[in-house]
Amino acid sequence: MKNLDVAVVGAGVGGLTAAIAMRRLGNRVSVYEQSSGFSRVGADINLTPNAVRALDGLGGGVAEWIRANGGRPQFRLSRMWDTGEETSRIELGADAEQRYGSPQLTLHRADLMTALESELPDGVVELGKRLENIVDGPGGVRLRFSDGSEATAAVVIGADGIHSRVREALLGADSPEFTGIVAFRAVVPADRVGDLVNADCFIKWWGPDLSTQIVTFPLGLDEVFVFATVGQPEWTEESWSTPGSIAELQGLYADFHPDARALLDRCGDVLKSALYVRRPLPSWSGERAVLLGDACHPMTPFMAQGAGQACEDAVVLARCLSESDDPSSAFARYEAVRKPRTSEIQAKSRGNDWLRSAGNGDWVYAYDAWSVPVDA
Ligand code: FAD
Repeated sequence: MKNLDVAVVGAGVGGLTAAIAMRRLGNRVSVYEQSSGFSRVGADINLTPNAVRALDGLGGGVAEWIRANGGRPQFRLSRMWDTGEETSRIELGADAEQRYGSPQLTLHRADLMTALESELPDGVVELGKRLENIVDGPGGVRLRFSDGSEATAAVVIGADGIHSRVREALLGADSPEFTGIVAFRAVVPADRVGDLVNADCFIKWWGPDLSTQIVTFPLGLDEVFVFATVGQPEWTEESWSTPGSIAELQGLYADFHPDARALLDRCGDVLKSALYVRRPLPSWSGERAVLLGDACHPMTPFMAQGAGQACEDAVVLARCLSESDDPSSAFARYEAVRKPRTSEIQAKSRGNDWLRSAGNGDWVYAYDAWSVPVDA
């Protein structure tokens, strides 16, 4: 199918990738985003080679832009929290690029959003449009927004994240599950930590249990990102993200190896949030609406795959729609191709032992959403 009127709900990484891919394959696309603008909060995106490959295939200036602005960790190291022992080392950098055809890149989330948004002509993304409901009718799917406005489309892509209203319309209301894990995030200027051991590497410090870890890596061109998690029985904050403190970080990780603690000592502002997930859904689609990314398979961040899987979904969905005669058979193909992979990654990421000791990342990193077979 070509010349479809497609409505994408949500201008996150998955929604924008889907919009670009659907337009490149000959469709008319509108993106509806609830926020009134994009903010530059202290958030990273670690794009593994499979994610970069999905973005590379979008054409335009995305590939060049993310390479020009992305950090390139040289190795992925696993170290033990107390002894500092290195239990696995995977070459990233030039080696990953040669092996997988695309590099591993780390960016500010806002920079990635800018790169994607600039591929869409003005007017494609409509801000301040919070979807309330979708209703399937004879003239197409009607979308109703909280400002009272409406739109109609032949196909709706729900890329509206873990609280997806499209998912609710298709499958009914239910709440995501708190994992019992909270995460701290901090961005530190690189010149403040350049003297520390392995500051140019992606390092995962494995803690005494599988909830406790510290991850650090170069972010973009001149910063370092710190991401630390720990078990916490309850999350009672109203907000999903609140200010944390260095003192709290230092207290929680006081028994970690001095190399890990040294980085925490140099953090400035710290954000704290709770990690939520959902179990694999029974279905990702209805007759003319379909889900992608966190809307259908939110996962813990321990494999750095949430955004990457959303990008892969977007590409495979666009390919399935362009190669099928009707939306529901395209959705069935898309789900058949994508669900086994995303369910496996959801489960593996929840278990949090990915590459803890020597291991091979090929089954995740070598995936090419542009060439994976999508025929029936
Ligand atoms: P989202 O990014 O959540 O985007 C959804 C969009 O929909 C938002 O813009 C939202 O405002 C909009 N929206 C929601 N509801 C409505 C509505 N009703 N109407 C209109 N618009 C709506 N992934 C990685 O690949 N690498 C990483 O390094 C990584 N690190 C992470 C660290 C943390 C702490 C967390 C929590 C996640 C991390 N992830 C990472 C996961 C990643 O952020 C998500 O999986 C990814 O953002 C999902 O993209 P998405 O487009 O599906 O949804």
